[in-house]
Amino acid sequence: MSDKIRVTTPIVEIDGDEMTRIMWQMVKEKLLLPYMDINAEYYDLGLKKRDETDDQVTVDAAHAIMKYGVGVKCATITPNAARVDEYGLKKQWSSPNGTIRGILDGTVFRAPILVNNIHPFVRTWKKPIHIGRHAYGDVYKNQEIKVPGPGTGELVFTPRDGSEPIRKVIQEFETPGILQGIHNTVPSIRSFAVSCFTYALDQKIDLWFSTKDTISKTYDAEFRKIFDEEYEANWKEKFDDAGIEYFFTLIDDAVARIMKSEGGMLWACKNYDGDVMSDMLASANGSLAMMTSVLVSPHGYFEYEAAHGTVQKHYYKHLEGEPTSTNSMALIFAWTGCLKKRAELDETPNVADFAKKVEEASIETVESGVMPGDLMKVADPDPKNRQVSTEEFIDAIKDNLEKKL
Ligand code: NAP
Ligand code: MG
Repeated sequence: MSDKIRVTTPIVEIDGDEMTRIMWQMVKEKLLLPYMDINAEYYDLGLKKRDETDDQVTVDAAHAIMKYGVGVKCATITPNAARVDEYGLKKQWSSPNGTIRGILDGTVFRAPILVNNIHPFVRTWKKPIHIGRHAYGDVYKNQEIKVPGPGTGELVFTPRDGSEPIRKVIQEFETPGILQGIHNTVPSIRSFAVSCFTYALDQKIDLWFSTKDTISKTYDAEFRKIFDEEYEANWKEKFDDAGIEYFFTLIDDAVARIMKSEGGMLWACKNYDGDVMSDMLASANGSLAMMTSVLVSPHGYFEYEAAHGTVQKHYYKHLEGEPTSTNSMALIFAWTGCLKKRAELDETPNVADFAKKVEEASIETVESGVMPGDLMKVADPDPKNRQVSTEEFIDAIKDNLEKKL
């Protein structure tokens, strides 16, 4: 095969860490580069490189997505104290995803990859539950103080027009303690709402939104108010015509209802709720490695990634020379999602067609019983099921892909 499929516009390729970095290389070498001519604009967000560049490389990667529109990202380590020691870091760099989301704004949508031999743990779930995570602000862009002893913790806003600051006492401390300040902005919440209504209408699914506005009467209440306004002003008619609903409820009630629902809705969550609930949904659908993730910016930028992290434990096994059986499905779907979006924007149907074949080959591989260890634990029992190694799984997908070309 000499005629490779050309991807005309550069793809912003963001490499990462540990086991996902190993799989990233395999996916590219085995499933993509033999068949495609990809003009990649490569950013190495491996932790070493972030440390060497004082994290500039992360900012550059985000700006490249702003330039070209579409990127694909490998999982990256968010350093904690242990990582600072392990990698001898200059400092505890911020979460790369947080940095990129801070620059691009937007909403992260996640949906499970469904295969016919794995059923969700929640028996009532018949359809995929999509989750939309607000990807800006809150605890991900906070300031924190470790309170050393007695004193006053305050929240202060200083207007730029020179008028009186607004102050509120958070706590009169009599003992050591902790303090946290978080924020969000009206434009970001509004674009979150717009992204969610757009996605739900596009997919023809109900939109559920949840906050804790009974407790957080200003902060969370503002989210609810903006969603309500946006719905009434711009979406009610369209939703009625499409036969779908917008439904607001408290976060705890939403969790309770989701567990008893049939699925098939977009669940819009604030940043932290989305972080936690998307991992719960992913694992209830079989494995974290069966969850796709895309950051949709209101400015028209898209970043595709896997929902899981760098799979550190498997990487340490790999370093010990032990065989691993790590699941590359979500990484593969990050690449195909990115290629399909690129194809849509470039109007190159042959690129989309190839991406679809890679997805089909991946799904058929699992459905044929060839799967990594995480799926063996959750797939319908079948004598033909066979656990394969990280690399064998990708090779098996390649065999199935070859049959389609
Ligand atoms: P993780 O990498 O998602 O892995 C947690 C566990 O989930 C694994 O130990 C494994 O379970 C299972 N798992 C996840 N992905 C899998 C896959 N592809 N195939 C098979 N099993 C999989 O989360 P973590 O261990 O908490 O975090 C590791 C690092 O990832 C951290 O440094 C964190 O900062 C980073 N992280 C990055 C992102 C991102 O870049 N988007 C997101 C989350 C975390 P078993 O060990 O039981 O097999
Ligand atoms: Mg999470």
